[in-house]
Amino acid sequence: MPGPRRFEGPSDLHLHSANSDGTQPPAEVMASAHRHGVRTAALTDHDTTSGWAEAAEAAASLGMTFVPGMELSARHEWRSVHVLAYLPDPDEPALRAETARIRSSRLDRARLMADRISRDYDLVWDDILEQTTDGATVGRPHIADALVARGLVRDRAEAFAGILSPGGDYYVALYAPDPVTAVSLVAGAGGVPIVAHPASRGGLLPMRLLERMLQAGLAGFELGHRENRDPGLTTLRDLCSRRDLIVTGSSDYHGLGKPNQPGENTTSDEMVARIIERATGSAPVHP
Ligand code: AMP
Ligand code: FE
Ligand code: FE
Ligand code: ZN
Repeated sequence: MPGPRRFEGPSDLHLHSANSDGTQPPAEVMASAHRHGVRTAALTDHDTTSGWAEAAEAAASLGMTFVPGMELSARHEWRSVHVLAYLPDPDEPALRAETARIRSSRLDRARLMADRISRDYDLVWDDILEQTTDGATVGRPHIADALVARGLVRDRAEAFAGILSPGGDYYVALYAPDPVTAVSLVAGAGGVPIVAHPASRGGLLPMRLLERMLQAGLAGFELGHRENRDPGLTTLRDLCSRRDLIVTGSSDYHGLGKPNQPGENTTSDEMVARIIERATGSAPVHP
């Protein structure tokens, strides 16, 4: 029998802090979510669990339930795939080792991109470090912030559309595991793997790959996300209802780094309960 439901909605299970590419410390992310009416929140920084303790404490002091999470980088051919990991064991060796590898290669990759950019623009590696919290998972958003600080672009969106675009001269691909491996790593750490924004720009992953991810333990899809588009969204909605998969909705808040606001999409109480019941790696933190 499932225990009593101890959390309260609205639930937003996809938020970023400055421990990756958000712009606020974890505690402030929880406070922003609370101001927007969110009562159960997950911190899902890219490839790191380093913000959990601070976020959990802040959430508790605000009377919110905290769901520990992460957004794990994966790659299928040229496409980046994001796998949300809810309630994994942060100390499980295989997942820990892979996230450490991704973070360290992200740092090398950011340096390479900075080198390429600095041939044409007035930008040095220190500019990027200045935009990055110590120990944070480094990504293109930090390079974007450095370009903004140098007055070379107006905002992150302009940087991504131009200088940082994958089609451009300065782009360097990121090391990341394939999506099946990413799902297995999360499931192996007792976490609940959900594909983030699965019908965004690049369109749907091939159905046979999604099937292999489901066999590896994929639990569901983040259908409520501002970047999802038809026809992929409709295809996935059908798949989720036919196979009784978990469906989430979230903001993907990045502070000032994106227009997304906490609570703009939410996950139903039933689905949050299913995520919590399925997880064996860690537990939600209640106030
Ligand atoms: P990376 O993983 O380093 O290649 O950078 C991708 C990250 O940049 C994603 O996780 C998004 O959070 C962020 N991002 C992508 N496109 C944009 C955009 N147009 N504006 C702001 N942030 C973006
Ligand atoms: Fe991000
Ligand atoms: Fe993402
Ligand atoms: Zn995200």
